[in-house]
Amino acid sequence: MAKTTKGKDIPDVEHPQDNVTQKTKETQIAGECIFCHTFRQIPYEDAFTIAQLRGITEQEAADDLATDMCRCKQGIDFRESKKRLENAAEFMHKIFAENDGAYQMSLCCLKAVDSGDIEKVTFKIGKFSYTIDKDTQAMIRVKTKYTDSQDAKF
Ligand SMILES: [Zn+2]
Repeated sequence: MAKTTKGKDIPDVEHPQDNVTQKTKETQIAGECIFCHTFRQIPYEDAFTIAQLRGITEQEAADDLATDMCRCKQGIDFRESKKRLENAAEFMHKIFAENDGAYQMSLCCLKAVDSGDIEKVTFKIGKFSYTIDKDTQAMIRVKTKYTDSQDAKF
């Protein structure tokens, strides 16, 4: 990622020490845990790759990585919550692979239930109804119910 100076006459006034500083700057970037504000040195390449993938700055990517690696209580809780959401999203994707609208809505429901914004949500598709809430251990719970009732109308 070295800057090219091709085609320009740059006076050679740099000290060898400056080169060393620059090299360190480019190979490592300090990331800060968003919860406990502990700093951690992150390989610049990793931050750069994630920044490119997600369209965020290298600093934001470094902070994300530092948060992911941090051992603080909030960091661990955050990762566990993220993992729960990922697993639940995967489960929903298996159910609603053919129905993107239902899948997208279920993701919103999962997030809202996990964050506590919504206590419980139920939606119905055909003969199935899905209820998303949290159990007593704060785990996300998805209840699927199949109802095949026959209505007689006269
Ligand atoms: Zn932390």
